[in-house]
Amino acid sequence: MLTLTEIAAEAASCTKCPLAAGRTQVVWGMGDPNADLMFVGEGPGAEEDRQGLPFVGKSGKLLDRLIAEEMGLTRDRCYIANVVKCRPPENRDPKPEEIAACRPYLEAQVDLIGAKVIVTLGRFAAQVLLGTSDGIMKLRGRSYPFRGGVLVPTLHPAAALRGGGEPLAQMRADFVRAKRALAEAFA
Ligand code: URA
Ligand code: SF4
Repeated sequence: MLTLTEIAAEAASCTKCPLAAGRTQVVWGMGDPNADLMFVGEGPGAEEDRQGLPFVGKSGKLLDRLIAEEMGLTRDRCYIANVVKCRPPENRDPKPEEIAACRPYLEAQVDLIGAKVIVTLGRFAAQVLLGTSDGIMKLRGRSYPFRGGVLVPTLHPAAALRGGGEPLAQMRADFVRAKRALAEAFA
């Protein structure tokens, strides 16, 4: 069985899907590999592609703020990854075949990190991990039993940056839900 570090090293030169052609570098993920709390986003944007780290642009700033304000944590206490590890051109949605090609990496991260609570950001991560095609507004607002832990779907931070007050309030409520689930996991 490979370790997380070994799989990350393998992914760094991955060409299993067409997204390889447009990337600067693979954005594997970051944080505590033994974290109890994991975030899963969609895919790297321009800044992530440049730095090789997830959620380091505007969406990442909001994510950090919500982690701090609603959960009292910092990102180094969590693990952060994406559904696809390479930036889709012009930030377009990842295609089903790209998501499928990259999925073993996400599955390895989910399995090996073994977080008690997974918060999915946006529709792609929720749909992939829950195995559903339901929309994010239907999925969010509750938590789901997930591989011995709990999955809490929420919006993508970009939706709150675009949409203002209401999506932001929904995200805050979901982060509080995740914090509660984390506390319950240790009760
Ligand atoms: N949006 C994502 O879904 N992931 C990132 O890493 C950055 C922005
Ligand atoms: Fe490989 Fe995933 Fe990058 Fe596609 S997106 S090339 S599957 S690492």
